[in-house]
Amino acid sequence: MSFTLAIVGRPNVGKSTLFNRLVGKRLALVDDTPGVTRDLREGDARLGDLRFIVIDSAGLELAEDDSLQGRMRRLTERAVEEADICLFVVDARVGVTPADEIFADILRRKNANVILAANKAEGSAGEAGALEAWSLGLGEPMQISAEHGLGMDELYHVLRPMADEFAARNVAAIPETDVVIDEELGEDDIPAYIPPSAAKPLQLAVIGRPNAGKSTLINKILNEDRLLTGPEAGITRDAISVKTDYMGTPMRIWDTAGMRKKARVNEKLEKLSVADGLRAVRFAEVVVVLLDVNIPFETQDLRIADFAETEGRAVVVAANKWDLEDDKPAKLLELREAFERLLPQLKGAPLVTVSAKTGKGLDRLHAAILKAHEVWNRRVPTAKLNNWLSAMTEAHPPPAPGGRRIKLRYMTQAKTRPPGFVVKATHTDKIPEAYGRYLVNGLRETFDMGGTPIRIYFRDQG
Ligand code: GDP
Ligand code: GDP
Repeated sequence: MSFTLAIVGRPNVGKSTLFNRLVGKRLALVDDTPGVTRDLREGDARLGDLRFIVIDSAGLELAEDDSLQGRMRRLTERAVEEADICLFVVDARVGVTPADEIFADILRRKNANVILAANKAEGSAGEAGALEAWSLGLGEPMQISAEHGLGMDELYHVLRPMADEFAARNVAAIPETDVVIDEELGEDDIPAYIPPSAAKPLQLAVIGRPNAGKSTLINKILNEDRLLTGPEAGITRDAISVKTDYMGTPMRIWDTAGMRKKARVNEKLEKLSVADGLRAVRFAEVVVVLLDVNIPFETQDLRIADFAETEGRAVVVAANKWDLEDDKPAKLLELREAFERLLPQLKGAPLVTVSAKTGKGLDRLHAAILKAHEVWNRRVPTAKLNNWLSAMTEAHPPPAPGGRRIKLRYMTQAKTRPPGFVVKATHTDKIPEAYGRYLVNGLRETFDMGGTPIRIYFRDQG
C-alpha cells in the first residue's frame, strides 16, 4: 500500500520543514532567505504505520528573470500530477495571501485531492490565520506546526482512510484526459466502452445543496445505514466512498463526510458544505445533481450543476421528494422548462424524478446513470462525423469575417470521458462561440449524446 503526497504552497510557509519531519532525515535544505534554488524532491515518509512517498515542491522562489506565477505554476502542476494527494500548506501566522489563492486555484483546476493545512499554528498566534484559510474553499484547514511536530496525529487520521481508499482503488482522482492532436487519430485509437464491472465499478457522486436528500438517497441505494454511521464518517475531510451494487451495477459512490456533518450546523456553513461536496465530483465519472423538488434550480443548484459540467463529468439531474408533489405532470413540465432555460450547457442531460424516501424512481435513476456513463464514453466514427460536419456547415455556414470565409475542413474525435472533438479549420481565432455551441448541440442531437459535456477543439489548418 502506498500513495504519493505532494506538499505544495507558496514559499516560506514551512513545506521543507514538514517534508523533513515526515522523512525523518535532514535531507531537505531549509533556508529562511528566498531565492535558494531548489526543485521537487522525493522522500520516503513515515507517519504512524503509514508509509508513503512525499514530494516537496519548495523551490518556488521568486527569481527576477522568471515570473513567479509561471514558475509556481509549473512546479506545482508537476507535483500535483505526480501525487495522489496534495497537502496544501498556508502560513497560519500570515493568513491567506493572494499567492495562496493562486495555489488554491491551480489545485482546483488540476482536480487535485487536497488536504489543507495551516502551519506555524503553535501557540495562539496562528488562530486567526487558520480560520481565514476556510475562505480558500478547500474544506477545513488542519492546524499543524511542522517545526514543533504538532497536528501530526490529525494528519495521520486524515491520511489513514484515504490511504486505505487508494490501496483499494490504486488510482487518484480522475482527471479530464488531455487531448492529443494527431492527424492520423481515428476512433480506433480511443479505447472502446467497457461497461462497469466489479473490478471497475462506475464512479458516482451525488451532490446537491444541504437537505436535498443526498444522504437519504445514498442510504436507499446502499439499503443500509452505513453512510451515516460508518466508521469513515467524520474522520476524513476529503471524499470518502462506499462500494455498492446498485440494481446489479457495481458502483462506487463518492461523498464527503463534511457534506453530511456540516450541513446541519447552520446557514453560514452551507457554502462550505457545498464546496466539500464539489470535491467528490473529481472522483466521479457520473454526477447526480440532486434537487429538492420544492425549491428546484436555485442559485446553488445551478452552481453545482455547472461545476460538474466544467469538470467534464457525465451529469444526471434528479428531482427528489417527488412523493410530496400533487400535480406531477404540471410540475414535470415546469421542471423541464426551467432546466432548459437555466442550464443550457447541460442540454439533453436526463432529468429524472425520484423519491429517496420511498425508493420510487430509483430504477429510472439507475438507467439514466448507466446511459450517461455510456454516452460519456461514446466514440463516433470519423466518417460519420465528417458527413455530419458537411451537412451542418451547409445548413448554416460559418461566418466570413473580413470577407474571408472560415472553412471547417475535417473533424475527428480525439478523446472520450467526456467526448472531445478536433475540428481542423481556417481562421480558428475568428470562429464565434455561438458557432461552437451550434456544433455541440448538433452533435448532441444527431449522435444522441445528452448528459455529457462535449468539447470541441478548433485547430488551424491553412
Ligand atoms: P518552505 O519555503 O515552504 O519550504 O518553508 P521552510 O520549510 O523553508 O520554512 C520557512 C521558515 O518557516 C523557516 O524559518 C522555518 O523554520 C519556519 N517554520 C516552518 N515551520 C514552522 C512552524 O511550524 N512554526 C514556526 N513558528 N515556524 C516554522
Ligand atoms: P442531505 O442534507 O442532502 O443529505 O439531505 P437528507 O438526506 O439529510 O434529507 C433532508 C431531509 O429531507 C430529511 O428530513 C429527509 O427525511 C427528507 N427527505 C429526503 N428525501 C426525501 C424524499 O424523497 N421525500 C420526502 N418527503 N422527504 C425526503
